[in-house]
Amino acid sequence: MLGRLLAIFAHPDDESYGPAGTLVEAVSSGHAVRVVIATRGDAGSLGISKQYEPHELARIRQGELLDAAAILGVEAIILGWPDKGVSAVDPDLGVATLVREIRRFRPDSLLTFHPNGLSGHPDHIAITALAISAERAAADPAFGPGLGAAWTTADHWHYALPESKALAVAHFREMRTVSDDAIDEIMDVSCHTVRKESACLAHVTQRDFHRQLQDARGGLHEFWSREHLVRANRVR
Ligand SMILES: [Zn+2]
Repeated sequence: MLGRLLAIFAHPDDESYGPAGTLVEAVSSGHAVRVVIATRGDAGSLGISKQYEPHELARIRQGELLDAAAILGVEAIILGWPDKGVSAVDPDLGVATLVREIRRFRPDSLLTFHPNGLSGHPDHIAITALAISAERAAADPAFGPGLGAAWTTADHWHYALPESKALAVAHFREMRTVSDDAIDEIMDVSCHTVRKESACLAHVTQRDFHRQLQDARGGLHEFWSREHLVRANRVR
């Protein structure tokens, strides 16, 4: 369904706690998957992250992303934009950078957060908006001819949290959900939950988040077993 897949997210760990099962499913189907992460996560404040200076945390989280990517079987690229500062990136520069990544990889499908940002983190909202603009611009031969040959991405999917899934975790009360009716594709990734779990745990600095999922109704395997996608053109 997804084909060659380019996923664009904000922070190291978004790919793992987000649609890791979907990424592995694409890899298992024989497709190349590349993850582009906007920041190094240097402003993270979860758990042991607080112990590190921003430059140390950036180096550690970059390594965690590479470990997680190896577990998932995907390539990972970090753009190095400021953590908690994606919305302040010059939009022309941001779009041009992502157009270059799209034209370089030539994906069948693009995968981003839902425009609601899932957790509502401003970086999540900003990177998704830039990716939506970049997808359109990449297809326009008149846009940035120096950024590579025009490329039309067939599908763009948003990773989203349906209301019913958010109810399974007490910590998710604050998350931005979509109605279950808005979901276009439910990915059965039950055979990839071990890898998803390992990829999440590779983000050692973010383990507090993992602990918050321990009370998921029905257990973590059940919670990880399905991922939910919305077709991007439905929310434009
Ligand atoms: Zn994030």
